Amino acid sequence: MSKFAALRRIGQCALAIAMLAPFAARADAPVERLAVHAGVVLDVVSGERLRDRWILVDGERIVAIQSTAPTDRRIIDWSAYTVLPGLIDTHTHLIGDDESANIAAPLMSSAARDVLLGVKNARATLHAGFTSVRDVGCFRAFTDVALRDAINAGIVPGPRMKVAGAYITVSGGGGEVTGMAPDVGIPADMRRGVANSADEVRQRVRELLAGGADFIKVIGTGAVLAAGTTPGASEFTEEEIHAAVDEAAKHGTYVAVHAHGAQGVKDAIRAGARSVEHASLMDPEGVALMKKYGTYLSADIYNGDYIDEIGHRDGWPAEILRKNDETTETQRTAFREAAAAGVKITFGTDAGVYPHGLNARQFPYMVKYGLTPLQAIQAATTRAAELMRVEADVGSIAVGKYADLIAVNGDPLEHIETLESVQAVIKGGVLQP
Ligand SMILES: [Zn+2]
Repeated sequence: MSKFAALRRIGQCALAIAMLAPFAARADAPVERLAVHAGVVLDVVSGERLRDRWILVDGERIVAIQSTAPTDRRIIDWSAYTVLPGLIDTHTHLIGDDESANIAAPLMSSAARDVLLGVKNARATLHAGFTSVRDVGCFRAFTDVALRDAINAGIVPGPRMKVAGAYITVSGGGGEVTGMAPDVGIPADMRRGVANSADEVRQRVRELLAGGADFIKVIGTGAVLAAGTTPGASEFTEEEIHAAVDEAAKHGTYVAVHAHGAQGVKDAIRAGARSVEHASLMDPEGVALMKKYGTYLSADIYNGDYIDEIGHRDGWPAEILRKNDETTETQRTAFREAAAAGVKITFGTDAGVYPHGLNARQFPYMVKYGLTPLQAIQAATTRAAELMRVEADVGSIAVGKYADLIAVNGDPLEHIETLESVQAVIKGGVLQP
């Protein structure tokens, strides 16, 4: 290396250090002291409306909630609004394109493009008032880990994410890219979660958790949107799902199971799944088991209408539209029975099947199919946080928790659809632009 090149290199290093300086300085910077003046604070635990409150925030967290105006704090004036904790969607797919008519679409996008789309989707989700999500799988393994870490590092805006790393699925199952000719090779990073025995399931669990996954997603039955699979048909046995639950528990985490079919739902519950996703064909015995085991239900009861409308307009494959028809109303019936039985229901939309940012469209459906407005809000706050084991940090407006706050017009307990147009969002004490 010439002397000149060496000097230039030193110069670059100095520049790099200068660019890093604002981040390094952050720990020493004075903590920002905020006061959010709320017209009404909705206590999502009790359902009480607390009028004219000040939420005091030091840095990322809430330090007090009081009825007197503070001095010497930067004020955010939300006095015209009802203020709720940031919402939580427990079933999103932030990475990659939205679902489309083209079943080969995942093969037409690189991992890099998928993540960049994830950046856009994460921002839309945050702006819609969803400050936390449980992201339940992506086709290209660990792209979700990269997005989560970039959000946590402050590189891109987005909700707090818990991620699955990939889908654990049988060969040709509901978590695979299916519908291709049998001699078409699928890239290895799209098949990282493929397992065909209890031993292989354990191996995949270890690999996904080692790669940075927060929890495990098992595809227990066929899927509506995976060509050639049957939603009602079981793909993993109870024993195989149990292997995932046992291995995840050894690593201090849990398993979410995608299950449409009645048998698949029951196998998942008995195997110890923490949550069952979809449960579209769940029978009364499944509802009773869910209640008995304390399993969480995350059922996407809005998006069947969206798939039906867009699918017919855009010419989606007839097989997918038929499976959607066969699972939409049955799922709503099962949801209503679960609500009546007092099953622990969380808010999970399958956003990604429909556009990110429209997550709140599911609230009126949850009220129509058996929850009170407060229960629907709890499904997306306290219950969701509990399912994700993050209730110490998020899910309600309380001293010590993150200042994740949203402002809406009017009273969501009277008009649940107000949650579909969130006016402003604060995440971790930072007002989102
Ligand atoms: Zn899903």
